[in-house]
Amino acid sequence: MTPQTKVEILQHLIQIPSVNENETAVANYIASLFAPYPQAKVEKVPFAENRDNLVVTIGEGPQIGLSGHMDVVDPGDHSAWSHDPFGGEIVGDHLFGRGASDMKSGLAAIVITMLEFLEQGTPLKGSVRLLATVGEETGEYGAAMLTDAGYADQLAGLVIAEPSGLDNVVYTARGVIDYKVVSTGKGSHSASPEKGINAITNLMKFYNAVGPLMAQHTETDPVLGGLLHNVDLISGGEQINSIPAHAELMANMRTIPAYPNQVIYDELEALIAKLNQQPTVDLELSYSYPEEAIPGDPNAPLVQLAKQISDKICGHDTKIVGSGGANDGAEFLRAKADFTSIEIGPGSNTSHQVDEYISIQEYLQAIDFYEALVPAFFAQLVKA
Ligand SMILES: [Zn+2]
Repeated sequence: MTPQTKVEILQHLIQIPSVNENETAVANYIASLFAPYPQAKVEKVPFAENRDNLVVTIGEGPQIGLSGHMDVVDPGDHSAWSHDPFGGEIVGDHLFGRGASDMKSGLAAIVITMLEFLEQGTPLKGSVRLLATVGEETGEYGAAMLTDAGYADQLAGLVIAEPSGLDNVVYTARGVIDYKVVSTGKGSHSASPEKGINAITNLMKFYNAVGPLMAQHTETDPVLGGLLHNVDLISGGEQINSIPAHAELMANMRTIPAYPNQVIYDELEALIAKLNQQPTVDLELSYSYPEEAIPGDPNAPLVQLAKQISDKICGHDTKIVGSGGANDGAEFLRAKADFTSIEIGPGSNTSHQVDEYISIQEYLQAIDFYEALVPAFFAQLVKA
């Protein structure tokens, strides 16, 4: 495949506005690229209307997963962009557009890697599985669904092509817990508060207790740091002369491997249960799309291999690092297989920003990187 064609595939992907939905158009386009190769097994796994995950498998034997998400975040105000966010415009070495960095360049690179293996008839000592997901940006539910359906159960290793930059291999990542607490009281005239139950007062009982409770987690991860807990949204009350019948807060937690999510759930639920024993307190706790932290081992063979190959292909010193953000790997690691998940892919520091771009040179290098990594991974398995 010519570099020109590789760039056009990326432009085409960017021109599909898969903003937090509509991933089927992306899945269909990628599937069409594999149409000339009947030996590639192409499966669409529907999540919802117009939202298909895509799984493509080539070869046989021990399996490496290459994964990328097909959704992008909202570009916001188009007029703030100097280039059409869905244009895929090129200026010099920069290709612009929403998803250019996060992560249609990574997605295109792993797709092209598989296409070139097919095109060139590369003999592979194993199988390669593309796991293209929906909804990564809003909760990793595509990866969760594919994992539950068993699509990660054969993996011997997983590479997530998120935009770490090719000079970083991410082997560990923070988890996430977003939770909400709703306090239900009883409205009454504020001149007769004894007839009501103040939902804000009761919510504050939780608020005042949860900070010190979470602060007891003093263990820190050498790479990721400590557990983070922030109450970021709070609202309550109906009007100034009424006792509030409703109040709620939402908090965002960034977890570390030392504290599996279940530890935190148990503590939050115990606190809620304790407060609800008080006669007028009625608190309800819920979570949205929690993610486990990824523990990882910097010396795992796949981590070291990715570093060696990136060093060689790109001529830089690849760093082995942790990530403050969760990725689809957290879901895939729930699969039956025991494997290492790493994150390495082309990217710039413009992800989720206006005028998001990718360096075309880095994008093309990423393809060379994955094309070298896959056979080296199989060779490593044979040796082990
Ligand atoms: Zn991403």
